[in-house]
Amino acid sequence: MSVQLGMPQPREVAGSNVPAVRPATAGAGLVDRYGRRATDMRLSLTDKCNLRCTYCMPAEGLEWLSKQAVMTAGEIVRIVRIGVERLGVRELRLTGGEPLVRHDLVEIIAELRRNHPDLPISMTTNAVGLAKKAAALKAAGLTRINVSLDSLHEETFTQLTRRPFLNQVLAGVDAAWAAGLGPVKLNAVLMRGINDAEAPSLLAWALGRGYELRFIEQMPLDADHGWTRRDMITASEIRELLSRDFVLSPDPRARDGAPAERFEVRRRAAGSGADDASVHGPVLGTVGIIASVTEPFCSDCRRTRITAEGKIMSCLFSHEEYDLLGLLRSGASDEDLARRWQDAMWLKPKAHGMDHVGLDAPDFVQPDRSMSAIGG
Ligand code: SAM
Ligand code: SF4
Repeated sequence: MSVQLGMPQPREVAGSNVPAVRPATAGAGLVDRYGRRATDMRLSLTDKCNLRCTYCMPAEGLEWLSKQAVMTAGEIVRIVRIGVERLGVRELRLTGGEPLVRHDLVEIIAELRRNHPDLPISMTTNAVGLAKKAAALKAAGLTRINVSLDSLHEETFTQLTRRPFLNQVLAGVDAAWAAGLGPVKLNAVLMRGINDAEAPSLLAWALGRGYELRFIEQMPLDADHGWTRRDMITASEIRELLSRDFVLSPDPRARDGAPAERFEVRRRAAGSGADDASVHGPVLGTVGIIASVTEPFCSDCRRTRITAEGKIMSCLFSHEEYDLLGLLRSGASDEDLARRWQDAMWLKPKAHGMDHVGLDAPDFVQPDRSMSAIGG
């Protein structure tokens, strides 16, 4: 069971001498006990979604939050302002659930942009209905977009998302590009025996259009609790799958806290087994691999998360969450809200622990919340 707490409860950290209560000397911003500073805010606009991706949602959907429980536009705007003005947030990603199902999405973005002219504001979306909204989102001030796209085959797409909307999604991606919401990044989760063989053709398609594809290792954040380590496609398998058609070499640009490890991509010269990039022609673009399970990047994590009902989560795998919206609605000042956020982030776990889990995973406890209910 996850614990929902009003105020952060100090806990001793086993085997560690780091203080469990944020000391006055901790300084400004969203720092934690291990010296990390969160500057990248992921804010969920809704828990609702119009797809039912098998690795995220059950077929019947989830029990949605009531309208009253979800942050209003005004509350979102205030929380972001506190994050940016008091706590050092430097970039914002809007997510969900599916952000496009929020009827006031364009107004929210416009207000955020008015308050923060220079803040990078991106959005992760399944792109259903995006074709109609891309231009308005750009005009409102959205900087960039990430679209989830796991397959280019109608049947496979429908099997994975349980909805027959591939054409809408493809139209949405193209509309985002045309509206100037680039660079467009695509997120793909590979599922064994379903879309894993499609990895090279997905990449070829993305490169041909100038989109940046990122493969995400499937994480144990599905509402059905069906994830097994045995079934997930690992980052090393992804590199292997791609290496039949492409040669990947590390992107020389600094990773700079990004979850994706980026590679430059060249098409493999016919019949060449050599991995020496120089024999394989020009760089066609880049591909990212987000290896949250097998090659975690917790030590450099810069994310802070706010769920659709205004709970602070310091990590996707937190079993604890802290109520920011309740405090806000009780009339708290910006200073009090900032302090709660800082206290919650101070307790961010050192690591999620999935990488230490054996094949039978007896000691890893999957969080109650699924990805859609956190805001991925
Ligand atoms: N609905 C939007 C979408 O799908 O892009 C935004 C929310 S969705 C939760 C955000 C991202 O989380 C998507 O790229 C999705 O593929 C990813 N995701 C969902 N469940 C996941 C899981 N169990 N493991 C890895 N990634 C997951
Ligand atoms: Fe919806 Fe995104 Fe989850 Fe798919 S991954 S069910 S689109 S929230």
